[in-house]
Amino acid sequence: MLGKVKLKNQTVEKIAREIGFDLIGFAKAEVLNEETEKLQMWVNKNYHGGMKYMAENIEKRRDVRKILPSAKSVISLGINYFYAGDYENKPNTGKVSRYAWGEDYHYLMWEMLEKFERRLKEIEPEIQTKSYVDTGPTMDAVWAYKSGLGWLGKNTTVINPDYGSWFFIATVLTNIDFIPTPPITERCGTCTACIDACPTNALIAPYELDATKCISYLTIENKGEIPSEFQGKFNNWLFGCDICQEVCPWNKKFAKQTDKKEFAPSNKELDLDMFDKMSNREFNRKFEKSPIKRARVKGMRRNANFLKNSSAEEKKQDENS
Ligand code: SF4
Ligand code: SF4
Repeated sequence: MLGKVKLKNQTVEKIAREIGFDLIGFAKAEVLNEETEKLQMWVNKNYHGGMKYMAENIEKRRDVRKILPSAKSVISLGINYFYAGDYENKPNTGKVSRYAWGEDYHYLMWEMLEKFERRLKEIEPEIQTKSYVDTGPTMDAVWAYKSGLGWLGKNTTVINPDYGSWFFIATVLTNIDFIPTPPITERCGTCTACIDACPTNALIAPYELDATKCISYLTIENKGEIPSEFQGKFNNWLFGCDICQEVCPWNKKFAKQTDKKEFAPSNKELDLDMFDKMSNREFNRKFEKSPIKRARVKGMRRNANFLKNSSAEEKKQDENS
């Protein structure tokens, strides 16, 4: 049992900002019945494809006390990763999703979380915390919404009125009872830009993504071949896809440059031939610090070949027409 709690929302917020987090909010560690039912229905439709982990740990996702029995609050933290700049679209290159232009955000966020938890413990030695950066059995986007970081947009990202959706999220469970931050009500309104712009119709309805049709899933998480039905629809995306975020008016208007040098672009567009003869070792060395390593050399070669075949096919069709 905790004695008189010294840590207040304001102190935690101040610490988070000093460490470099751009967004912070608090939610009650309540049971997520409705959200878990939605997740279960999504999984039942097989919209998660090969992401088996999405179908696992449902009870932990429903109730964070199955992870941290003393949990009273959830703290959501966000880091803006938007780096200004556009693609050059040079011949024989493929585009990389903005989140992977620079270093893998996990390293930076884990480091920042460690500092954050240490600072909280210095003030409140009895504090218990358990933190995740999108690899844990927690519903991070739901908690980010409940903690007031943003609303859940029709493109399924969390949108903040000051930053748009270009931010990474961390989730911290804690045994301290913080005052909840009011959630931000949905501001998509009648807009459907993301749904209209998705080239593979992966946004099958507002707020509902069929990941098996999403270029992000197909180029990163997918371990098999890319189905031929998607040929000519990839808009040159080699790793991930940002179309439904690029068209979002909140991003167009409010995205701001990050102050994190770790996200400076080093892999914005890649040569499609570079993976042809690249060994595992060469790939791991080159992309050691990049989120691109998740796709492995085999996946990147598959993606590059898919784009090359698509453009060869399009050329043939142009010649015949
Ligand atoms: S990331 Fe691309 S493919 Fe996936 S839903 Fe958004 S626009 Fe569609
Ligand atoms: S593009 Fe429009 S509908 Fe889609 S998330 Fe942004 S505001 Fe919402």
